[in-house]
Amino acid sequence: MSTKKIEPYQPCPCGSGRKYKFCCHAKGVQISQQTARALVHQSADFPVAHCWVDPSWKTHGLASVFVSRQLPNGKLVIGVYLVDTLCMGVKSTFCNANLSVVEVQKMLSANPVPVEPIEYEDARSLVLGGLEYARSVGFEPDPSWKDSRYVIEADKPFAAKYEFGQDGRPVYISGPFDDPEAFTDAQIEALQLGQQAQLKPKTP
Ligand SMILES: [Zn+2]
Repeated sequence: MSTKKIEPYQPCPCGSGRKYKFCCHAKGVQISQQTARALVHQSADFPVAHCWVDPSWKTHGLASVFVSRQLPNGKLVIGVYLVDTLCMGVKSTFCNANLSVVEVQKMLSANPVPVEPIEYEDARSLVLGGLEYARSVGFEPDPSWKDSRYVIEADKPFAAKYEFGQDGRPVYISGPFDDPEAFTDAQIEALQLGQQAQLKPKTP
């Protein structure tokens, strides 16, 4: 494991300027004893460290969003969201806690498309807005959302900063893990409306 311990007399990772031993050390020990899932569920208590997005979503309609939070023991909580902005919303998610900075960096560099920093509120707007749009078409988020929703504070209001779908319509782009056979009639109807809108030539 690439888990590097913080030395007691190092500056505290919380940024207070005090030594770790006299600042967050006790909290850190308590944190290290908890399960990743329990920590993920307490996400709102830990400050956001960094957020990233793969900016090519604006052309492809598929956004990889990463949110990291600082734990008092120097480790991070991470939430990763794959958002189909054209129709299906949160297609898959992943979350974990007690990851080292190196482990998170590896995760970022393993993303097929390079990522860049994004503001936390923009990340929330993209993920939660995408989810809300997908729901309006009849698609629910991936089951893993029940945990990863905490990292991005899904219960708090978010600002609508982005448009979803294309020209106001949902557009379905099939992915390797989709099962169109399992779509409900309501979903198919919503998608067909979207496709018809796509096929119609744009009036100048
Ligand atoms: Zn501290």
